This record gives sequence, structure tokens and C-alpha cells, in this order.
Amino acid sequence: MSAHILDGKAIAQQVQDQLAERVRQIQGRPPGLAVILVGENPASVAYVRGKEKASQRVGIVSFPHHLAATVSQSELADLIATLNQNSHVDGILLQLPLPAHLDEDLLLNLIDPDKDVDGLHPVNLGRLMRGEPGLRSCTPAGVMKLLTDLPLDLAGKNAVVVGRSKLVGKPLALLLLEQNCTVTIAHSRTQDLAELTRRADILVAAVGRINLITAPMVKPGAVVVDVGINRTTDSTGKNYLIGDVDFQGVQAVAGWLTPVPGGVGPLTVTYLLVNTFTSYAARTRLALV
Ligand code: NAD
Repeated sequence: MSAHILDGKAIAQQVQDQLAERVRQIQGRPPGLAVILVGENPASVAYVRGKEKASQRVGIVSFPHHLAATVSQSELADLIATLNQNSHVDGILLQLPLPAHLDEDLLLNLIDPDKDVDGLHPVNLGRLMRGEPGLRSCTPAGVMKLLTDLPLDLAGKNAVVVGRSKLVGKPLALLLLEQNCTVTIAHSRTQDLAELTRRADILVAAVGRINLITAPMVKPGAVVVDVGINRTTDSTGKNYLIGDVDFQGVQAVAGWLTPVPGGVGPLTVTYLLVNTFTSYAARTRLALV
């Protein structure tokens, strides 16, 4: 058996094309996304560039705020307050991680929950917990798009999420629960991870550890989603990205499998755009169909 490869890039393209069409039909101001980048962390610079380019492609105006690594907490707080008030800004993205002298949580909590396109504000996490509408974290939303597009009834499936961060693992577990999966969250203190993962019809790895999930840990036919992004070098010294799942080995056992890169990553960026559009639609009372 060889798993079907879930082409996240193609699915992301489809969603972005539909979004671009919706944006083209807008009469009046376009949706706006403010992107705050602090410092020169190369991964963050690359992510922000990707997000700004993707915004442009679908017709979302981006408001870049690229600040020096020495910016103070109060300067950032003032910027967020200004963006909260700016009627042309529908989404505010604070690219993480921030330099150590800044309090990430405190700053995230200052973002207007209705402009919190990363879905990390306690109000949005609370809405998710309560099953109320609200902006959902982008990576979990992207994973759910991959899963709900499959010819599979998610109800009653055993889903195992490896990783319990507030960015990925926890919100994803709640979204799977919303689809009536039976959800288990595994983490760094879990005993006998393989015993749990072997029972998973849906297995999501969101840890950041190369080869964490190997073929003997996977139930035959399972859906395996690899959220992990690890930077490594090959024998010639060339840098490349790799996930948490042993792709070659697991491909022979799983029913569906996402690659890294080209799996979850493109959907994460796409759901940032979807969230910005959702926020725009709510703000301008545009009917969502
Ligand atoms: P994190 O470091 O905040 O959380 C990692 C989680 O893994 C923790 O909850 C920890 O308990 C768990 N863990 C650590 N070691 C473990 C082990 N041996 N067994 C089981 N669980 C273990 O990371 P995060 O922000 O949730 O990101 C996780 C991974 O996903 C990273 O590689 C990150 O780069 C990647 N990521 C990818 C995307 C994307 O768009 N594809 C988006 C966000 C994060």
C-alpha cells in the first residue's frame, strides 16, 4: 500500500483563488492586513514575506510594520492600539517569536479580538472552547480543511494529536472534537506514545522533532498529518525543511499523508487570508456565502 499524498499547495491555491474572486467582487475599500515584524529573525522574515505576497495575490492590502529588535513594549502596545482603531485594517498579525525583552502574551492580548486573525487571543480561544463562531488559529483551521475535504466521515474516528501548544495542538484538538472525533492529546510526558498513535484513525504530529513518527507507530490506512517543520542540512551542507513524520516509511502504511514542505504550511498562510476576509466581511456587513 502507498498512501495518497495530500497536496496542501494545490488545496491552498484553490481556496486562495476562490478568495481572490470574492475580493474582486467587492465594491469599496479592500480588506486590509497589518503585519508586525520585530527584528531580523530569518525564519520570521521569510514567513512575513510569504504572508505579504499571498495577501497581495488575493487582493488584500497589506500594512507592513517592520520594527527594529530594540522596539519597546510600550511602543508596540501603542502601535497595536492605533491599528485596532484603523478602519482600513481588518486583521492584525504579530509575527512570533518576539525578542526576549517583549511580553508576547501581553501584546497578543491587546489585539482587538475581532482583528485577531491568528486566533490566539483568549477571547477567540474561549469562543472555540465554547463552540461559538470566532476567528480560529490558522494552522489548525488548515489541518481541518485537509481533513474535511477527504472522502471520510470524521465522526467517531479516533484522532490523536501529538503536541499540546496553544498555537497548534490544543485548538486543533477542539476543532476535531467539534467534528465528533474521539480526541486524545499526546505530549512530552506521554507514556508509550506508539501505543496511542497505533490506535489513531487520524494522527497529527505537531512537535518539531525529526522522525518522531515512524511506520510501526501508524495504523494501516490512517490519515497522517505532519505539521512539524524542522530545519536541517543534507550531506552537502544544503539546508532543507523536514517534518516530524518519517515520510518514506509511513507512506507505505498510511492511507493519506501530508508532505513537508507542501502540506500544512501553505494552508496556514491561506487561513490567515481567509480570517482577514472573514473579519472584513463582519466589519463591513458583507454577506458571507
Ligand atoms: P511547541 O514547541 O510550542 O510545542 C511542541 C509540543 O510538542 C509541546 O506541546 C510538547 O509537549 C510536545 N512534545 C515535545 N516532545 C515530545 C515528544 N517526544 N513526544 C510527544 N510530544 C512532544 O511547538 P508548536 O508551535 O506547537 O509547533 C510544533 C511544530 O509545528 C514545530 O515544528 C513548528 O515549526 C511547526 N509548525 C508548523 C506550522 C505550519 O504551518 N506547518 C505552523 C505552526 C507550527
